[in-house]
Amino acid sequence: MEEFEIAIIGGGPAGMMAAITCREKNIVLIEKTSKLGKKLLLTGGGRCNITNNKPIKTLLNYYEEKNFLKHSFYTLTNEKLLDLFKKKGLEFIEEDNNSIFPATEKAESIMKILHDYLKNIKIKYNTNVYNVEKKREYFIINNKIKAKKIIIATGGITYPETGSDGGGYNLTNQPLTAIKWGIVPLITKYHFEDFAGINLYDVCISYKDKKYYGDVLITHKGLSGPAILNISNEISKDIDYNLLDNNDIKLNDVKINIDLLPNLNFQEIKEKFNRDFQQKGKTYLKNYLKIYLVNNFIPFFLDHNNIDGEIKLANITKESKKKLIESLKCTTLKIIGFNTPLSKITIGGIDINSLNSKTMESKETEGLYFAGEILEPVGPSGGYNLKIAFSTGYLAGISALKSL
Ligand SMILES: Cc1cc2nc3c(=O)[nH]c(=O)nc-3n(C[C@H](O)[C@H](O)[C@H](O)COP(=O)(O)OP(=O)(O)OC[C@H]3O[C@@H](n4cnc5c(N)ncnc54)[C@H](O)[C@@H]3O)c2cc1C
Repeated sequence: MEEFEIAIIGGGPAGMMAAITCREKNIVLIEKTSKLGKKLLLTGGGRCNITNNKPIKTLLNYYEEKNFLKHSFYTLTNEKLLDLFKKKGLEFIEEDNNSIFPATEKAESIMKILHDYLKNIKIKYNTNVYNVEKKREYFIINNKIKAKKIIIATGGITYPETGSDGGGYNLTNQPLTAIKWGIVPLITKYHFEDFAGINLYDVCISYKDKKYYGDVLITHKGLSGPAILNISNEISKDIDYNLLDNNDIKLNDVKINIDLLPNLNFQEIKEKFNRDFQQKGKTYLKNYLKIYLVNNFIPFFLDHNNIDGEIKLANITKESKKKLIESLKCTTLKIIGFNTPLSKITIGGIDINSLNSKTMESKETEGLYFAGEILEPVGPSGGYNLKIAFSTGYLAGISALKSL
């Protein structure tokens, strides 16, 4: 049997970062596929939105599990994370909403440097870990590998072709919370085929009391884009299901509202309309709306909200004006499903209450650590999830190292 001080299972960002922290020791990184970081290469549309550069205090407010994540975020700050790459010549750029990308705009640049850090460690490719047992002070992996400490970083359940197919959840008896789809496009009851490709800029999407501002992309099946992907997390968390029990999810009476003019309130729109409707009385409503809405979207807006676009502004009644403003502020859409093959993140995982947040070690099993997407926490889109993977991977790595 081969023997190591630390075994790390899963060669994604969390596992690679854990391995980098303890690379001076006799360690092994075990990866199921023939390549490290398959999912990392897909991130940010191949550009890798590696982290989010908001100050840590602000950043933590984007996660429900902020108290659990706090220690790992302060241990591997963004400065420290980016310095690892800057030392090897890679620069970064900051885009909207503090999203950080490599200046090369290529996820491969990140992977190249991670490989460089990992060049002297033992990596076992094409090795699926299916069994982990603890025998006295050792963990035995697949009856073949022995290690004093073990870090499980097998990822979530989305994009299974990248290797993260949920197989890591049951490797140990560590408690799990419900596993759900996250950052996932929505399927609407309304058939949007004719409008696919239209972007709605700077709108506000709400679901119950949750609101997200940003862009929305109309797709063949429904809606996507940053605001939709973020609200999808709220919808998914709110529905009672667990992918480990059942894949058949029923979305009963799920509705979202779109505020198409979030920067204007009802009264402000009314005042503008009162002025314009007098001055431009001969203009047809469908043409006038081009000031506020993307041209190709207007037929949907009018039809869906039962508004007559062929009417001239001068002929619009007080009630119709009120309905028009209400529709601009709140167009409701029924959601009938998640476009699951495109889900980017798994909500839920290893129950954070069963782990020590200062080390990522199991409270029950000494020497057993977890990191990355296999953990319960999830963030919105915009670099918040790689932030979890790198920070928890780093903390698990240094903690396992210290405990040797
Ligand atoms: C299309 C897409 C775009 C994304 N874009 C962004 C983005 O721009 N910014 C952002 O912050 N997040 C993004 N994410 C999320 C981000 O990719 C994940 O948060 C991150 O990859 C999680 O890292 P991880 O190491 O925990 O898991 P993973 O990256 O999933 O890695 C897990 C590894 O473990 C291996 N493995 C699994 N089971 C076993 C086993 N039993 N034995 C051995 N090995 C095993 C897998 O093969 C895999 O290599 C995106 C996700 C997707 C799908």
